[in-house]
Amino acid sequence: MVLNAEISSHPLRIRVAVPLPIYDSFDYLVTAEQYRSLNLGSRVKVSFGRQQCIAVVIEKIPPNTPQETTFKLKNILEVIDTTSLIHQSMMSLLKWSAQYYIFPLGEVIQSAFPTRLRQGHAYECHAPAWEIIDFHAEEKLKRSEKQRLAYTHLCKKVEPCFETDLVNEGIHLTTLRALEKKQIIQEIEKNIDFSAKPIELAQIPLTANEDQTQAIHTILEKKEGYCPFLLDGITGSGKTEVYLQVMYEVLKQGKQVLVLVPEIGLTSQTIARFKARFNCHITLLHSGLTDVQRLHAWQQAQTGQASIILGTRSAIYTPLPHLGLIILDEEHDLSFKQQEGFRYHARDVALYRAHLEKCPIILGSATPSIDSFALVQQKKIQHLTLNTRTGSAVLPQMHLIDLKVSPKVHGLSQYLIGHIKQRLQQQEQVLIFLNRRGYAPILMCEHCGWQANCPNCDAHFTLHTQPYQHLHCHHCGLIQVLPPSCPECKQETLKPIGLGTVKVEEGLKELFPETEIIRVDRDSTSRVGSLEKIYDKIHQNKPLILLGTQMLAKGHHFPYVTLVAILDIDAGLLSVDFRAPERTAQMIVQVSGRAGRGEKKGDVFLQTLRPDHPTLNTLISKDYRTFAQHTLKERQIALLPPYRYTVLVRSESKDEQKNLQFLTEISQHLQEISTQHLDIWGPIPAPMQRKAGKYQAHLVILGKDRAHLHYYIRHWWLFITSQCPAYIRLSIDIDPQELN
Ligand code: ADP
Ligand code: ZN
Ligand code: ZN
Repeated sequence: MVLNAEISSHPLRIRVAVPLPIYDSFDYLVTAEQYRSLNLGSRVKVSFGRQQCIAVVIEKIPPNTPQETTFKLKNILEVIDTTSLIHQSMMSLLKWSAQYYIFPLGEVIQSAFPTRLRQGHAYECHAPAWEIIDFHAEEKLKRSEKQRLAYTHLCKKVEPCFETDLVNEGIHLTTLRALEKKQIIQEIEKNIDFSAKPIELAQIPLTANEDQTQAIHTILEKKEGYCPFLLDGITGSGKTEVYLQVMYEVLKQGKQVLVLVPEIGLTSQTIARFKARFNCHITLLHSGLTDVQRLHAWQQAQTGQASIILGTRSAIYTPLPHLGLIILDEEHDLSFKQQEGFRYHARDVALYRAHLEKCPIILGSATPSIDSFALVQQKKIQHLTLNTRTGSAVLPQMHLIDLKVSPKVHGLSQYLIGHIKQRLQQQEQVLIFLNRRGYAPILMCEHCGWQANCPNCDAHFTLHTQPYQHLHCHHCGLIQVLPPSCPECKQETLKPIGLGTVKVEEGLKELFPETEIIRVDRDSTSRVGSLEKIYDKIHQNKPLILLGTQMLAKGHHFPYVTLVAILDIDAGLLSVDFRAPERTAQMIVQVSGRAGRGEKKGDVFLQTLRPDHPTLNTLISKDYRTFAQHTLKERQIALLPPYRYTVLVRSESKDEQKNLQFLTEISQHLQEISTQHLDIWGPIPAPMQRKAGKYQAHLVILGKDRAHLHYYIRHWWLFITSQCPAYIRLSIDIDPQELN
């Protein structure tokens, strides 16, 4: 029997991706039974080299396919799932991402799995849930508001509540544990119900204004297929209402909606608006969940049970069987770009995902990225605009304060202080923005000029005074005690230079002793729930000063803030990065957008040493869109992105010379292999050359034709990474957003 002999000479095989930094995929032998039961996207345990790992099936090799190599294949060790955890179009997205970002597929696939599944744990049929055991505990909980709220919430439910859903409602696990300790509630395992709940409206939609109506109609008109939209609406113009009305139409068809926001801080406010509008299953995916909660949330999404999936950047890789719409809110935000490891841009991945799934996608922002405006120009995305604030609110008036001529007290010009006083007297709220946490960015000796610098980085230490005095390097994390006197001249003349939020807070307390001052930065909000408490305060109509970093700039709605002051905008304007003006303009417009959202008109004050700077002047005399058009022209003339595509290669080594030499060699190699012209900048030392004791250098490669650029870069990269000596660490960044 020739046929049988042939079959036995080509045993059954599957191809898997292993979660390791390796660009190849590997074949393993399986039995006929394993072959039948396995699917694309199932997990298997394999031995790889000397280790065992959880691999994912990326291909079932057709029976009777001759083996390409003579290499002796191993059997898989174990089948973990027989079902597919990643459906076909998701697998295509992952493969595309690995190809596009030149990153090992096995590691890219990891992005689609929650930690528990990556570790090889079973796909669960049950999840932790909580139920009441003491139905008369109300009295015992008078002293803890949180526990009382959690308890009354659980009392309203007839059945045990999934922990994931409770967390989505804003009830923390620590609260549940505290109630458990008091023997009021208990944890159980509840079977997961994967059936989807039909959607109902919980609230009558607002009557859309003219611009909103136009946007909603245009989006809904396109019934099928891939259609991308840029919803460009000034701050407070009601973008969310447009999302909600479009979402409703998609949800009614039984489809899922994926909504991405820049950071966890914004999920609670967004989820509250979704919950107020829709009666349906909403699931939240972000880094604040425990592994078990995340697995459950992921399963709700992956099985189709959840109708709305709200998450931060990484949620773009959530498998969704019925995806019908993608929304990326604040699409200009830099946090959509992963800045280490697998450096994908969630916006670009989302556009490709919508293309694969043939569904609409809305990118929304008051300050769209220059990249998105370029897509509008190329007619690759449809531009929708919302030009008025809703209700009686109007955009605030902007004022420049020239710091060269205006006297300052505690970093605030006298002119500004006068305006702040006036607003507070009128019982209004003030927001002061300074993107620098800590007490002061520099500690210097007034006598000899010595400065406290990090020994590992080319950077100053930041002086912190809370919770105790110390020096902290914001780049490598090093912490040192403060020297009692100058290490150089031994004089006790050390002086903080420049302003951090803590120092400004100190000054504000002196200037406005009667007023409540709330500082919002990473140091003040590190405790869970503290941010929510702050927002509660802001939403009470009482005068106060809100002082903070970029955490305040994003998306939040502060109805009683009528004055916004940006203390130092020059740092952004003076940066060497060609995107610096874009980022600064976005920051100014976004921070300004927090003012005057209520009935009273707002004012924005910008303190600067460069009142003649073109970016500032375009923004103030015209608007963000005009600024964006100017910027596009400038980039076109200078042949910068988005008019050319870029790739950034970063290399890092303890040896400065060898590092630069290696980059020179690989740059020459690239020039030799590419037949058409690629523009190569460098090797250049990174803006911060030494970081955490290592020298950083860059190679920037630009090309007009994306396919051409990527083709050469790919071949080159696979070659040079195989040649890279152990003392150099290389990484590649496709479409980099920051050149640092
Ligand atoms: P954006 O996201 O564009 O900054 P929001 O969606 O947060 O703006 O809307 C700002 C405010 O205006 C919200 O309080 C919202 O409820 C309200 N709003 C939005 N659309 C309408 C409308 N058509 N009629 C009345 N109020 C609206
Ligand atoms: Zn000194
Ligand atoms: Zn450092």
